[in-house]
Amino acid sequence: MPTTLLTLNLDQIGQMSCNPSIGGVGKGHMVREIDALGGAMGRLIDATGIHFRILNESRGFAVRGPRAQADKVKYRIAARRLLEATPHLRLRQGMAAKLLWEAGTKGLKGVELLDGSILPCDAVVVTTGTFLNGQILIGERRHEAGRAGEPPSTHLGLQLRALGLRHRRLKTGTSPRIAKATVDFDRLMPQPGDDPPRPFSFFTDHLPQPQVHCHITFTSPRTEALVRENLHRSAMYGGHVEGVGPRYCPSIEDKYVKFPDHERHQIFVEPESLETEEIYLSGLSTSMPPDVQEGMVHSLEGFERAEILRPGYAIEYDAFDPLQLRRDLGMGELEGVWFAGQINGTTGYEEAAGQGFLAGLNAARWLLEKEALVLRRDEAYLGVMVDDLVTKGTDEPYRMLTARAEHRLGLACDLADARLLEHARAIGALLPSELSRVEDKLHRRARLRAQCDEVWVTQSSVFGPVAEAAGLSLKAGLSLSELFRRQQMTTKHADESLGMLEGWRDPQPAWDPTWERDLLLFELRYAGYRERESRLLEHHRDWDAVRIPGDMVIESLPSLSREVKEKLLLHRPETLGQASRIPGITPAAVTLLHLMIEKRRSA
Ligand SMILES: Cc1cc2nc3c(=O)[nH]c(=O)nc-3n(C[C@H](O)[C@H](O)[C@H](O)COP(=O)(O)OP(=O)(O)OC[C@H]3O[C@@H](n4cnc5c(N)ncnc54)[C@H](O)[C@@H]3O)c2cc1C
Repeated sequence: MPTTLLTLNLDQIGQMSCNPSIGGVGKGHMVREIDALGGAMGRLIDATGIHFRILNESRGFAVRGPRAQADKVKYRIAARRLLEATPHLRLRQGMAAKLLWEAGTKGLKGVELLDGSILPCDAVVVTTGTFLNGQILIGERRHEAGRAGEPPSTHLGLQLRALGLRHRRLKTGTSPRIAKATVDFDRLMPQPGDDPPRPFSFFTDHLPQPQVHCHITFTSPRTEALVRENLHRSAMYGGHVEGVGPRYCPSIEDKYVKFPDHERHQIFVEPESLETEEIYLSGLSTSMPPDVQEGMVHSLEGFERAEILRPGYAIEYDAFDPLQLRRDLGMGELEGVWFAGQINGTTGYEEAAGQGFLAGLNAARWLLEKEALVLRRDEAYLGVMVDDLVTKGTDEPYRMLTARAEHRLGLACDLADARLLEHARAIGALLPSELSRVEDKLHRRARLRAQCDEVWVTQSSVFGPVAEAAGLSLKAGLSLSELFRRQQMTTKHADESLGMLEGWRDPQPAWDPTWERDLLLFELRYAGYRERESRLLEHHRDWDAVRIPGDMVIESLPSLSREVKEKLLLHRPETLGQASRIPGITPAAVTLLHLMIEKRRSA
């Protein structure tokens, strides 16, 4: 299917507007899911990453998440190369000014560009990021822009507002960038990456870039004094911004106001690229005027002589209420129109990539008259995100956190390929060789599990000395699986035991022994919890399968309170499961609604 990617500047494809990194806890989970479904983000960061770390490693298999620093310049080039090599995809620079509909019909006709040309199309995915009616704010100054150095998208913004879609102003901010040669790195705390680094993608065998350290510094009493003395000059705090900002990426002004007891704040010093001398200060997002920013930077240990290359800034932009979206990310009643990314009220590259993948896929499937891919909350963090957006909406920039998922054990990021294999097969986004790579791994895993169940361990067996070293006495024998369930068996003991199993060591790059050992221990030790979780889930799954007929007249349903009706009308849930998750909809109301759906069905 021929597709056009329209963008304001072809050189900015894959541009990281803020921090030069991908992933983290929750976000890294989504990158693995996108990868498992055939998306590009995991492979792009593997090709260009210069510092990889698994976060939350000590907090358990389910909540650990990969994160990597990108070489931002190489990431952009790799993203563009990948698009240029994609069959049936045409790249076009230009500004979309207007969506066009066929007169007198609901059918989309095309997109009109600012230069007057028209791109005919039957479906469009709108991903305008922070550009819609965007305004940059630095201190008391404000100017129109979509991102530093780029114009805002005003015409399209005005048309979407005029269509009567509910919109709001949101804001976000970024940190100053520093000249590397002006930083005294000897006074900073080095933060090495993992050794060896582990790739994001299930399909990467080799990480090609040289790996570098990041560093850590801290704010000082001088930083705090400067922020407090100048709060009235900050765009965010001086009353110059009406938009709501991201709770989980607070500005330095926010940190001092909201956490007055914290003596100092950690600042991560991250290289932007091996091709440039630019440094990013993660944790120092600010909208102070440049002179205050300079003082703040100089107040950090090791930055006394540092030079700012680009000041930090805040940006305010239009986002549209995601409650208007359908579960396939189509925009309500607007036929042929999908929305994805920051425009839906989210923040972050990974959130945007996940929505972009699903919206693009579903737009294509709609054109092919195929059913949309709607992931369930227990299948993927991507499913949690879309369900949260379209069911609960969001009042502030939405960021993925593992705490948003109620079924965390089953959503471990290392299991995304196994979990989503059937969807990947159905949508056809993986190559046959990639599908068989996942299948081979799953077969091997199953064989290993069976082996562990079968192998009988006694004191006199080859496993006896390992069990003894773990402080376990094996009077009666037990299976290797049972032995692994014992908490005394550390990962070192598990590695020693597994090393004795036939076929455990395999030179195949897809088989990472550390990863597989962790997975095996997780599955054995959490089997009981996972069973309980899946029993609880069955009940919710049933509700998710009950569709609320689109023509059901909510206003005239008897027995439901006015408040419940108002909420149903506002959120427009497509299934009973979705209705049950709307804040304020009681279990009693869900039961009543269920009864009415059943009654209608049997009428
Ligand atoms: C200043 C700033 C600070 C940020 N801070 C954070 C943060 O702290 N944490 C975090 O997780 N995320 C942050 N982000 C957000 C992160 O950059 C975005 O969430 C993510 O890039 C959004 O992706 P997107 O695809 O929705 O939009 P973008 O990456 O912004 O891409 C939008 C694209 O749309 C194109 N476009 C816009 N209008 C038109 C038009 N009319 N016609 C044609 N093309 C158009 C643009 O050319 C651009 O390529 C920040 C972003 C900015 C700008």
